[in-house]
Amino acid sequence: MQELKASVVAISALSEFIFKVELKPEQPAEFFAGQYLQVVLGEKDKRAFSIASRPSQNNLLELHIGATAADTYAIQALDHLREHHKNHTQATLEVGLGVSQLREKSDRPIIMLAGGTGFSYVKSMADHLAETGCKRPVLFYWGVKEESALYAKTEMEAWAASNSHFNFIPVVELADDSWSGHSGYVHNAVLKDIMSLGAYDIYMAGRFDMIGPVRDDFINQGAIREHMYADAFAFIK
Ligand SMILES: Cc1cc2nc3c(=O)[nH]c(=O)nc-3n(C[C@H](O)[C@H](O)[C@H](O)COP(=O)(O)OP(=O)(O)OC[C@H]3O[C@@H](n4cnc5c(N)ncnc54)[C@H](O)[C@@H]3O)c2cc1C
Repeated sequence: MQELKASVVAISALSEFIFKVELKPEQPAEFFAGQYLQVVLGEKDKRAFSIASRPSQNNLLELHIGATAADTYAIQALDHLREHHKNHTQATLEVGLGVSQLREKSDRPIIMLAGGTGFSYVKSMADHLAETGCKRPVLFYWGVKEESALYAKTEMEAWAASNSHFNFIPVVELADDSWSGHSGYVHNAVLKDIMSLGAYDIYMAGRFDMIGPVRDDFINQGAIREHMYADAFAFIK
């Protein structure tokens, strides 16, 4: 773990409730694709957010923070970062946390599963794989409640078009008639598309109440627990 001071360069809206935060650390940040950082609000109050940037982008860190009015955990962290932005002061970060980073030495095909702002975790790995010329098949499923929440759809379609091994599959839970892709929960799209999950390395991020059932459903369809990665596992049963 590396403790860093960082300036808050910009905070901008990605959708109605999701904000992109750009942080410039005073020294290059050290992390692997798929790790997270903590924004230090107090000695015992540290808020975890996935690092959306790829490791080579270690001079400008990007976070995607989902902050609805009910989510005080995220709202307070965002307000803390807004204060630093306004006052031109530096936030304290703890970088390079988590155990669910990309396993680069594996040669297994990859499923990446993101629910909502879990996108941030997966984006770092997806961009890193593109940058390093990955030859492994990568299936990137991104599930959101409504189509309007697919704020990086065009960017991920371009990512998929850049490498014949990459696929991007957006899934809209509450789709209307104009949506022609998968609908419902994102993991059900995976279960529908792939009959046996045993061959895959599976990376997952999303709500805590999603990760447990998804893990169990995937194992029932052949996924191997040792090849499933999610930092939420540390917070759930
Ligand atoms: C290490 C760590 C890092 C984190 N990083 C971030 C971060 O970078 N940014 C952030 O905002 N929060 C982060 N969090 C908090 C938490 O992961 C998010 O609050 C969560 O991902 C938010 O999901 P959402 O509200 O966007 O999903 P929603 O909009 O509620 O759901 C999106 C999709 O997820 C699926 N889904 C939701 N619920 C279920 C369910 N019960 N069963 C099956 N599928 C379901 C569906 O496909 C749904 O459409 C982090 C937490 C930890 C522990």
